[in-house]
Amino acid sequence: MIKFLDLHKINERFRDEINSRIKQVLDSGWYLLGNQDKTFEDNFAKYCGVKHCIGCANGLDALNLIIRAYGFGAGDEIIVPANTYIASILAISQNGCTPVLVEPDINTYNINPDLIEEKITDKTKAIMVVHLYGQAVEMEKIWALAKKYNLKVIEDSAQAHGAIYQGKRTGSLGDASGFSFYPGKNLGCMGDGGAVTTNDDELAKKIRAIANYGSDYKYHHIYKGINSRLDEIQAGILDVKLPHLDKDNERRREIAKYYRNNIKNEKISLPKTYNENAHVWHVFVVRCDNRDLLQKHLETNDIQTNIHYPTAPHKQLCYSEYAHLSLPITEKIHNEIISLPISPVMTDEEVKKVVEVVNAFK
Ligand SMILES: *Cc1c(COP(=O)(O)O)cnc(C)c1O
Repeated sequence: MIKFLDLHKINERFRDEINSRIKQVLDSGWYLLGNQDKTFEDNFAKYCGVKHCIGCANGLDALNLIIRAYGFGAGDEIIVPANTYIASILAISQNGCTPVLVEPDINTYNINPDLIEEKITDKTKAIMVVHLYGQAVEMEKIWALAKKYNLKVIEDSAQAHGAIYQGKRTGSLGDASGFSFYPGKNLGCMGDGGAVTTNDDELAKKIRAIANYGSDYKYHHIYKGINSRLDEIQAGILDVKLPHLDKDNERRREIAKYYRNNIKNEKISLPKTYNENAHVWHVFVVRCDNRDLLQKHLETNDIQTNIHYPTAPHKQLCYSEYAHLSLPITEKIHNEIISLPISPVMTDEEVKKVVEVVNAFK
């Protein structure tokens, strides 16, 4: 069986180091907002090329905290791609803001920058970009629009740790960025975890306070905050894995390249990238008219696949107010996509077998 993602094998490589970090936490008797957290935050900020990293409980909270700290709420609009994981959109509506959905580019699957300007109104406060499937959004046009209309740029970097655009990593491409360290992400912990990165000193201070019951120092509350912290064990595990992230992403690129060079089946459209460094291949998404048949065929041949995602956010029950929207590109993507296995621990034999089986699909 070729697993879609072998999380055990991924973390097994770091067993001794992870155990020793967990022991450090156990020995310290300090479990939240301690040295592991501080060390990882410093290292991750450096890695992304920003001044601040604030750990939090998960990726959804990271996005939520950014919107909350900017003070965006009821009556404010935030532009977001229609083709994304639902968390990006939930972060906006949970703050009372209105998500304004924009169609993706069929080649990159990321937000189509040419469709943004027509959606900007006097209520628009921010553009949230999502570096979907691991590919950094081409930011040039988005920066220009943000400047022209005085909007914040928020990155959802939950799928793109380490992806590079114009020499800069995700996490440093907007005013603030949300990361998830959910176990299956390119940098994942062994539970839930997330972080915000930013160069904005004021925003960083505010987010750190809001995430800790709104307190700037102990028992002194300046915001009606929430409890969203990255615990010491998860921070320690992330700090062990961070130095291996680039190498892991490199292996993902190698596999993606092999797939793109060797999958030859007219029924299948392969993913494209505008620049090799821009993509960290969180998932390898292909399109096929007969997606369900292809999935069956792979399953019969002992290859696990996944669909990211089977239903578009505007077609979900919880967003029935958007059900009337016509978003044909988003819907086409959701109907045709399927994700092939890709991970830093896949063997060459496994990669070859996937190609053979995909090529044999009729
Ligand atoms: C995983 C993910 C999130 C949410 O992260 P959690 O840690 O699961 O809350 C947000 N946006 C995108 C694009 C994601 O893939």
